[in-house]
Amino acid sequence: MEKTEVNVEHWADRIADEVIERVKKSEFLQKIVKENPYGYMVYDEKTPSGKIHIGSGRGWVIHDVIAKALRKKGVKSRFVLSSDDIDPFDKMNSELPKEYEKYLGMPFMNMPSPVKGYDNFGAYYFAQVTDKFKEFGIDAVLESTGEQYNKGAFNKTIKIALDNADKIQKTYTDLYGDEAMGSNRLPFNPICEKCGKIGTTVTTEWDAKREMIKYKCLPDFVTWAKGCGYEGERSPYNGGGKFPWKVEWAAKWPTKGVIVETAGKDHFTHGGSRTIACRIATDVFKYPPPYPSEGYKTGPGYEFFTVGGKKMSTSKGHGMGFADSTDYAPAQMLRFLLVKSRPNAVIDFQPYESNDLILLYERYDYAERVYFDAQEVDEKEKLKQSRIYELSHTGELPKKMPPQVPFTHAATLAQIFRSDEEVIANLKETGHLPEDLDKEGEAYVIDRLNFARKWISEFASEQYKFTLQDKVAKGLDLSEKQVDALHLAAERMDKGRFNEETLFNEFYKICKEEVEISPKEFFSAAYKVLLNKDRGPKLAPFALAAKKKAIELFRSAKAERMNTSDDETNVKKVNKEVNKMDQIDFDTWKKLKLKIGKIISAEKVPKTEKLYKLQVDIGEKKPVQIVTSLVDYYKETELVGKRIVVLTNLKPSKFGGEVSEAMLLCAEKGNTCVLLTTDKDMDAGSIVT
Ligand SMILES: [Zn+2]
Repeated sequence: MEKTEVNVEHWADRIADEVIERVKKSEFLQKIVKENPYGYMVYDEKTPSGKIHIGSGRGWVIHDVIAKALRKKGVKSRFVLSSDDIDPFDKMNSELPKEYEKYLGMPFMNMPSPVKGYDNFGAYYFAQVTDKFKEFGIDAVLESTGEQYNKGAFNKTIKIALDNADKIQKTYTDLYGDEAMGSNRLPFNPICEKCGKIGTTVTTEWDAKREMIKYKCLPDFVTWAKGCGYEGERSPYNGGGKFPWKVEWAAKWPTKGVIVETAGKDHFTHGGSRTIACRIATDVFKYPPPYPSEGYKTGPGYEFFTVGGKKMSTSKGHGMGFADSTDYAPAQMLRFLLVKSRPNAVIDFQPYESNDLILLYERYDYAERVYFDAQEVDEKEKLKQSRIYELSHTGELPKKMPPQVPFTHAATLAQIFRSDEEVIANLKETGHLPEDLDKEGEAYVIDRLNFARKWISEFASEQYKFTLQDKVAKGLDLSEKQVDALHLAAERMDKGRFNEETLFNEFYKICKEEVEISPKEFFSAAYKVLLNKDRGPKLAPFALAAKKKAIELFRSAKAERMNTSDDETNVKKVNKEVNKMDQIDFDTWKKLKLKIGKIISAEKVPKTEKLYKLQVDIGEKKPVQIVTSLVDYYKETELVGKRIVVLTNLKPSKFGGEVSEAMLLCAEKGNTCVLLTTDKDMDAGSIVT
């Protein structure tokens, strides 16, 4: 029982308690905290080597909320994030022009920015993520590790490390054996005074008296950069170079007075970088490693945060960047996800064709209602949800509850109405929003609506997408009872006043008491008539949102059924009408640029069931990409090599997250679909006229 009592407290508050307790017990740490201008220093670091992935964002939010929890407990605390911009550039990325190869081995801070307007390479990539901090509600003091070296902040620890090189070497040997990097090397990498590289140098001698090092810049020390061969002597201080990074991690703690610094759990494995950093900090720098470590014990790192099922990793270069994460979920929702999940819980967020975003909005709204006492819960739940809401809110906490429109309903309305004004008017009419909605509230709703539009067009699965029909579709094959029930529903909606609940009850009453039809049959008929689909969004709210059109369609279902009863003649008549209506002139036909294309490759679009992504040679410099739902009809191997007819000047659009630049032609009937191909071999790019 007691356990649940404890669990009500948010994880960040528990960590804050533990950290304050730890400092209380240690005179040494009390002095550190007192002398540090930031008080309890909560520290994290990132190498600005390229696009920074979403997994790191988890660390920043964790450090941010721990610092906030510490401040709430009444102690001074800041989260400081340092850019490890003196690290060597060790790998090209696809964004960079080839000329950057010449910088391999140099510190990021001494390389030009790939984009104008930034001081250097490191500053550019660091800004790509830190520019988003406000949106994510992350309060951080930003630092440059290179600047700290230049200012001499590390001078003291550099001297200690070089004086105790044998101890550091022994730590490496104890952990990894004699062969390990670092077990026979002096723990310092100077910047070569001749070529400016730092990734290629080794220190060969430490003259402790003169406080000078001798070093070499080796041509084949590393595979990714070539040193110039220079041999020289320089001071290691004031930006003369840097520690190897595991030693650097340990040196930062006493240098900056770090009290809390956690990291991804991959660093916390037995023999991982945290293990060695903890030992060096304890034995060489005589500094207690920060929370969650204690002495040699590393403690737990935080779990992975992945998107789309793949582990995020900067080095592998796949997955999604922190900076682009707001493309698939609002920063506020992502922050909420990270704040409510304990650091030891794995998070895998699926943006495509999943309910993840819907659930996130629902849970956020729930926490908000609990916070504002708009939802009744017991005391523990009230404490728990309110604290999650407080910590996950970005910016100032609102004084009154923002207007809540369920995300799925916003997605529904976004597909019924074109403009924000129409949606807002409808939400007022249906009682979702108050008549006297203020500007702030309106902006909040529109923000959500905009994201719902984006979600529908790029990420949502088919079940959430629909088109409200203009007319009842032909050939729906509805029974007499179905159309009678719809007709009655139309009459009631026209004359009565309903909310979502009373309308739902009315539908049931029509089914059970008046027409004697199963609700399932009724709902299916309604969706067919409204959307030409078998299912759709919740019917009562939907019918109310699209009331006028729904009444019209429900009514005309009966007439449509009578019209189509005489099948044969009707089909002919309809065809004739359609033919006349759809006639086009020769000029319109000429606008279609049809060509022969040869399929070069075919692969399934991940996270989708029906879609292939084809690369098709149409006789131009580059093949075009076509996304097509042929999975049920052709195997990948059957497609490759086929010559097909391609409409090449169709506006590009996105399916399953992939851009489709053209359209291929198929013949369809019932459950068959075959590709149009050529009678004899024709070259890719041949014009179809
Ligand atoms: Zn050199």
